[in-house]
Amino acid sequence: MHCGTKIVATLGPASTDPAVLESLIQAGVNTVRLNFSHGTAQDHIDRAATVRAIANKLGKSVAVLADLQGPKIRVGKFEKNKIELVKGAKFVLDAECELGNQDTVGLDYKELPNDVEPGVVLLLDDGKIQLVVDSVVGPKVFTTVTVGGPLSNNKGINRQGGGLTAPALTAKDMEDIKTAAVLEADYIAVSFPKSAADMYMARTLVRAAGGHALLIAKIERTEAITNLEEILDASDGIMVARGDLAVEVGDAAVPALQKRMIKLARKKHKLTITATQMMESMITSPVPTRAEVSDCANAVLDGTDAVMLSAESAAGKYPLEAVQAMARTCFEAERSGEGKIEGEFDNVSDFERIDIAVTMSAVYASSNMNVKAIVCISHSGASALWLSRYITGVPIYVFTQEVNTYRKLALYRHVTPIMVDAKLGPDREAHVAYAQLELLRTGKVVPGDRVIVTLASQSNGVNTGANTMRIIQIAQGQRA
Ligand code: PGA
Ligand code: MN
Repeated sequence: MHCGTKIVATLGPASTDPAVLESLIQAGVNTVRLNFSHGTAQDHIDRAATVRAIANKLGKSVAVLADLQGPKIRVGKFEKNKIELVKGAKFVLDAECELGNQDTVGLDYKELPNDVEPGVVLLLDDGKIQLVVDSVVGPKVFTTVTVGGPLSNNKGINRQGGGLTAPALTAKDMEDIKTAAVLEADYIAVSFPKSAADMYMARTLVRAAGGHALLIAKIERTEAITNLEEILDASDGIMVARGDLAVEVGDAAVPALQKRMIKLARKKHKLTITATQMMESMITSPVPTRAEVSDCANAVLDGTDAVMLSAESAAGKYPLEAVQAMARTCFEAERSGEGKIEGEFDNVSDFERIDIAVTMSAVYASSNMNVKAIVCISHSGASALWLSRYITGVPIYVFTQEVNTYRKLALYRHVTPIMVDAKLGPDREAHVAYAQLELLRTGKVVPGDRVIVTLASQSNGVNTGANTMRIIQIAQGQRA
């Protein structure tokens, strides 16, 4: 079963074993996420190497996404590791407290007292516990518990409605960016960005470290929703990071925000990953709930490039079953045709570049003509991005000689990247001939099928990217 929506799996103890990892990739994982909130630099370097070795062996393109921890704001530790907060009780968050107890706890984020005032609601442990600020005195934030429950060491703190001043990139993130460059990450996800400036800063650091990764902004702060357009402009894609976002904006606001984010991202020719709790119950159950299947299918119908597994594949009991559940859910949702977007081409106008005009023409033709595939002969992958921003249901086979392009395209919806042997040289016409034979050989087309081809054919020595769209009918006599 082959689905066009891509699957991102977070690696962890449940998926480090090479045999398990291989089964996940076989079952449809296209991108692996290295979560820099856990593990050492060496762990990530080793995991990336294992992934690359398996992908090579299977002849599959698998991208590596390095997800930076960001300024996760946390409480300190407790004398007895854990306390029980009761509704109505008083509780003090104290930047100078060393070890917490029933009445007070320390903070790893020392600026918190400067970022809050009376009336502010603080959410701890992904919103399971709620405190209201009564007053702030020096390093101490005095609060009243409004929703109680158990609180253990190092749980996260969010401010409802946003407004924490912590910078998006911590000293640890800057080190991790260097590790990501060493392991040649294809994508880097920036946690908690608030503005385009955070993304420019990340990009500067990534390039300074020698990394070529594309940048994904995790949308998980109120400010990021406000600044969504400028963040999109400064990024290659976004993650709908529903875990922290739900804490900041309220869980009920997230589904509509997801739709808005995906719609805007596609309009701006950016990538999207829909993340968090997609198959949550599969951490302990071999089958998903109806609600999880529905949520995953709806993300596909919204037009996401990829759906993501977090703890399900990193630490769950059923990582393979979770990938399989996602793959069959995506497949059915795509096949239903319900994800076709009305007025998809209404805004397609004012092309400022030759390659955009050419690829848009190819997409438009493919959605109104019986073609089996779009073949994209690509170097940087730019034309593959334009081709994949519209959902026509026609598979896009991208033939490239660039290994970095081959790997990063793993995340693009409906795109199957295929390597072209370097021995073929730079002649694009040779690549077109090779592509036809390769699609025939692998049974993706049969003689008589029509395919649309885009390529950069010779043009006065000026590099414009794709400048040619061609419709080919696979010859009757042609054989691989
Ligand atoms: P996280 O990000 O898993 O790194 O917290 C995703 C989210 O917040 O949804
Ligand atoms: Mn998060």
